[in-house]
Amino acid sequence: STLVALQGVTKVFANGVTALSGLDLEVRTGEFVSLLGPSGCGKSTVLRIVAGLAQPTEGRVAWPDSTDADHRGDIGFVFQEPTLMPWADVADNVWLPLRLRGVSKRKAGDRIAESLALVGLSDFAKAHPRELSGGMRMRVSIARALSLKPRLLLMDEPFAALDEITRFRLNDDLLRLQSELRCTVVFVTHSVYESAYLSSRIAVMSPRPGRIVAEIQGEPPAQR
Ligand code: ADP
Ligand code: ADP
Repeated sequence: STLVALQGVTKVFANGVTALSGLDLEVRTGEFVSLLGPSGCGKSTVLRIVAGLAQPTEGRVAWPDSTDADHRGDIGFVFQEPTLMPWADVADNVWLPLRLRGVSKRKAGDRIAESLALVGLSDFAKAHPRELSGGMRMRVSIARALSLKPRLLLMDEPFAALDEITRFRLNDDLLRLQSELRCTVVFVTHSVYESAYLSSRIAVMSPRPGRIVAEIQGEPPAQR
């Protein structure tokens, strides 16, 4: 079934740049879809619109199976940079989204531990971001996004800044995570390799006209 659909979405920024032009995209429950395209084609803008962080100029975002107008609690967002709070330890960084929703650290304890276990960082709850490698910082960032148990995980070129070996490792970690959590993932990348390796469907974007110009349907990762 359809989790979220972008219908005829156009985005014109205040400076006159048209980032998206009549874009259609349907994301089905449980699938891992990649948005593939060159830098500047509007991939981040699509994610931001799905997350409700930006509004379409025209068109709409539809959530067919939900009557709840606010889906933000159901969405985990992983940015290209881990954007961790440097003064806070790993556990407090993972706690942040729950804390913003008024959940005390004591009540969030199990959820924090669970999220860190999922990314293999159970022993690093008390570590500070500066003590971790780039790959580990990215895994903390993923744990933070998972702490809300999102139905939908949006990832904006999460591994682009990492070396290739770390990136390959995290690609495998992410596939394992998705099969364990069974959450829906929209993964933005400009890497053909990464999109083919990770996703059950690739949506190819083009900057002109700022929409999806091809879709490639593969096997779901679980059946590989
Ligand atoms: P991608 O993620 O594919 O690199 P983006 O969605 O970041 O692409 O950007 C699409 C286009 O919109 C680019 O030309 C970019 O410069 C422009 N853009 C993005 N955000 C803004 C903004 N806040 N104001 C003006 N232009 C923007
Ligand atoms: P990543 O690939 O996530 O960046 P690395 O393998 O580069 O992680 O790890 C950097 C250092 O941190 C290595 O010395 C590694 O042994 C250590 N390390 C990474 N993850 C763990 C873990 N879960 N437990 C213990 N040590 C770890």
